[in-house]
Amino acid sequence: MRVRNKPWAKEKLESFPQFVIHNPEQHKGKWNEVFGNSNPLHIEVGTGKGRFVTGMAQSNPDINYIGIELADSVVVTALDRIIEANLPNVKLLNQNANDLQKFFDKGDVDRVYLNFSDPWPKKRHEKRRLTYKTFLDLYESILIDGGEIHFKTDNRGLFEYSLTSFSEYGLLLTYVSLDLHKSDYEGNIMTEYEEKFSEKGFPIYRSEVKFQN
Ligand code: SAM
Repeated sequence: MRVRNKPWAKEKLESFPQFVIHNPEQHKGKWNEVFGNSNPLHIEVGTGKGRFVTGMAQSNPDINYIGIELADSVVVTALDRIIEANLPNVKLLNQNANDLQKFFDKGDVDRVYLNFSDPWPKKRHEKRRLTYKTFLDLYESILIDGGEIHFKTDNRGLFEYSLTSFSEYGLLLTYVSLDLHKSDYEGNIMTEYEEKFSEKGFPIYRSEVKFQN
C-alpha cells in the first residue's frame, strides 16, 4: 500500500484519546475498564485503514475490538472512520505487534484477526510473517484457552505457508476456503485490500484455527 507520509498524523492520533489508546501497557489485564464492560475482546493485527475493524464493531455491538497498526499515516484513516462511526466498542493502538505481550495478559484476548498481512515472500524474511511460529507464540500468550486466529489473504504463497505453520504449531483447523467470495460464508466484512484484490478477480483465501490447550 502506497501511503503518503502525513507529518500531522501523530498529533491527530494524540488528540483522540477516546479512540486511540496511547499507553496500552497501563490497561494490560484490565481492558474491560477501557470498554466499560466485560464483553469478549477481538484484535486485528495490521489493521490498515480500519474498514474491517470498524465494520465488525458496527455489526457486533456485544464484542469489543482493537485494531493494531504500526504505520501512523495509515492508522489515521482508521481513526477517521471510527470518529465518523462513533462506536463505543472499537479502539486503535498505533503500535507494533511484536510488543503484544506488553499490552495484553494471557486471556485478555478472545480472537486474533490477520487480514492481508504483508507476505514477506523471501525465505530470509520468514520471521517477519505474522503467521511465523514466534508470532503464534505471541498470540497464544495473550489469548484465552481455545482462542482463535481468523486469517484472510489474497496471497496463495502466504496462505499455503500459514496453513503449514499453523499445523506444525498444533493448531486445529476449523474452517478453510480457497475462494471466500464464492463460498457460503456469511457475514464477511471486507478490508481495503480485499476490496482491491477481489475487484481484480483474485480469489480470497480464508482460514480459522484454534489453539488446543
Ligand atoms: N489489514 C489491512 C487490509 O486488509 O486492508 C491492511 C493490510 S496491509 C498489506 C498490512 C498492514 O499491516 C500494513 O498497514 C502494515 O503497516 C501493518 N503491519 C505490518 N506489520 C505490523 C506489525 N508488526 N504491527 C502492526 N502492524 C503491522
